[in-house]
This record gives sequence, C-alpha cells and structure tokens, in this order.
Amino acid sequence: MEYLVLFLAVAIGYILAYFFKKKGIKQMPQILAFSGAFLLSVTLFELLPEVFESDYEHIGLFIMLGILLQIVLDFFSKGAEHGHVHLHSNQKTFPLLLFISLAIHALLEGFPITGNQNMLIGVVVHKIPIAMILTLFFYKAGFKPIIIGVFLLLFALMTPLGTWFSNEVDMLKQYAVPVNSLAIGVFLHVSTTILFESSKDHKFNLVKLLSIILGITIAYFL
Ligand SMILES: [Zn+2]
Ligand SMILES: [Zn+2]
Repeated sequence: MEYLVLFLAVAIGYILAYFFKKKGIKQMPQILAFSGAFLLSVTLFELLPEVFESDYEHIGLFIMLGILLQIVLDFFSKGAEHGHVHLHSNQKTFPLLLFISLAIHALLEGFPITGNQNMLIGVVVHKIPIAMILTLFFYKAGFKPIIIGVFLLLFALMTPLGTWFSNEVDMLKQYAVPVNSLAIGVFLHVSTTILFESSKDHKFNLVKLLSIILGITIAYFL
C-alpha cells in the first residue's frame, strides 16, 4: 500500500504538470513553501524524537552526514530536490547525473517511511511539487516525451524501493537508526533550503507566510 502511494505521488505530480505545461503553475512558490514547511515539521515532530529514543550514540553525526550528503548531491542535481532545475547542456539525452543524484536522494527518503504513516504523508507532500517542477522543466527544455516518461518512471520507483529495502532486508533493520538519521539530515537540508529560497531577497509575502504556517499547523495536528 505505501509503495503504491509513494509511486502515485510522482505520477500525480507528472499528470498535473502535463496539463499545465503550456500555462505553467503560478502558485508553485506557495505550494513549495507549504511542502517545505510540512516536511520540516514532520521531520522535527516525528522522525527526530523517534531516533533519539534509541540508545544509539552517533545520531547527531549521522544527521550531519546526511546534510553533507545532500550538499554533495546538490552539485549534481542543481537544486532539483528543492524546487528548481538548471541543466546547461543543449543535449536532450537522458540527464544521467541529475538522475543519479535524485535517485540516491529519493532512495534514502524511502527508508524512514517504514512503519511511520506521518512520514509517508510528509514525503508524499514533498514529492508531488518536485515531480511537477521536474516535468515542467523537461517539457520547457524540449526533452522528448519518452525521455521525460522514463526519467519520471524510474524516479517514481526509487522511494518505494527504499521503503521496500528497509521493510524486507533484515541486515538493514539493524542499521535503521543511523540510516534514518542520515535521512533526517537530507530532509533538514532540503526543507530548510526550500524555506530559505521561498523568501528570496527577504521580501515579505503574506500568502507564502500563510502557506508555511499552514504546513506547520497541519503537521503538528497529524
Ligand atoms: Zn536552490
Ligand atoms: Zn526529496
């Protein structure tokens, strides 16, 4: 069930973006601000207390490593995990580096979802706008529909695969706390970057601020 929901998050993002590919989506900044605030809140309210309940010693270190990992992945994805894509190549072939960095990110995102329904909702809310942004970008940049389709299909499979690994691979269960801590680092980096970039130039925007407050409030009452 959770595998299907995770897959559908990308599919829904893709379909929405497909229909709006001509007009674009004007509300994207507000949607992103909401999803960032929501993901950050679920991470702080659910996942963080959960890992600290264990008596594993190096949680802080693994969270930091997760942040560092996402910084490195960002060099290759150019920010696609948090809402903007820049590819500076005129080749319209499969963007392999972008895919690999997104795939590692998405795979890791799948691990903490095991047995944590609120985390599932958090990742779904985060994934829909990211899939929309990717799809809109690919169409705008003139990629072939088949490449867009294959890219998003493979991308959609990565997070369910991560969840499946953490559900089914016994060896990984032993490492659930460090792996989830790594994921917390990734979530912290991505969600705070979304929030940071959503107040570009420090301009006050009431709708964005309300989207952020709404994201926090809903996550709190989950
Ligand atoms: Zn960025
Ligand atoms: Zn993500």
